[in-house]
Amino acid sequence: MRKQVIAGNWKMNGTIASGSILIEAFTSFLGDKDLDCEIVVCPPFTALERAVSLTKNTQVSVGAQNMDYHDAGAFTGEVSPLMLMEIGVSYVIIGHSERREYYGETDAMVNEKIKSAFFHSLQPIVCVGESLEQREANETISFIHGQLKRALQDIPADQVEKLIIAYEPIWAIGTGKTATADQAEEVCKSIREYIAELYTPNVADLVRIQYGGSVKANNAREILSEPNIDGALVGGASLIVDEFNEIIMAAQ
Ligand code: 13P
Repeated sequence: MRKQVIAGNWKMNGTIASGSILIEAFTSFLGDKDLDCEIVVCPPFTALERAVSLTKNTQVSVGAQNMDYHDAGAFTGEVSPLMLMEIGVSYVIIGHSERREYYGETDAMVNEKIKSAFFHSLQPIVCVGESLEQREANETISFIHGQLKRALQDIPADQVEKLIIAYEPIWAIGTGKTATADQAEEVCKSIREYIAELYTPNVADLVRIQYGGSVKANNAREILSEPNIDGALVGGASLIVDEFNEIIMAAQ
């Protein structure tokens, strides 16, 4: 049975001070509730260390929103996996559509980052998703399969089975337009089938696939009840205590 993963991607929002207030609110709400899911918060780099210390001995883990794939070197402005490990970060979002769109991140870079994350024992959350034009041209499935094939190049089955893949249709991010549960399930199912084709049905059965794109308290339950959806990657609603708490409860 796959464990659901609810992750909050704060994007470029919040300060150390406001982020601390958020995390304290989540962790005190969760307390020692017997939760049947993983919970991850992904604050901006500057707030990661504080987030790690505030979530010690809680049910919440901390992820970064990006990383470079080199260990060190002349890469101005980048943060390496070793630096994330040093402060106790355990997850990393890779290939978010905003990174791809605004910072030119390619599938080849995503592939290097996944390899580097596994090498350093960071849990990658790998984002894929189509644009509105691609959906309207009926290219959703073939586009996402292409993204996956390139992202997973030379990555062995024993790593792929540990992957978290986030299906985030670009047209649903920050727009308030959620994919219907059926639309999300259709793509997540096709991702699982494609992993079975690239690897084995057993690997496909283990890999966890999140949906992301305008997930809120009022639509989370329906989306999370789909058989091939194993969690959510939440943007805006992860910055609102009651919303994120309700999404976590919807995963139970
Ligand atoms: P929203 O939930 O704000 O649509 O963002 C989704 C997202 O991009 C999470 O990574």
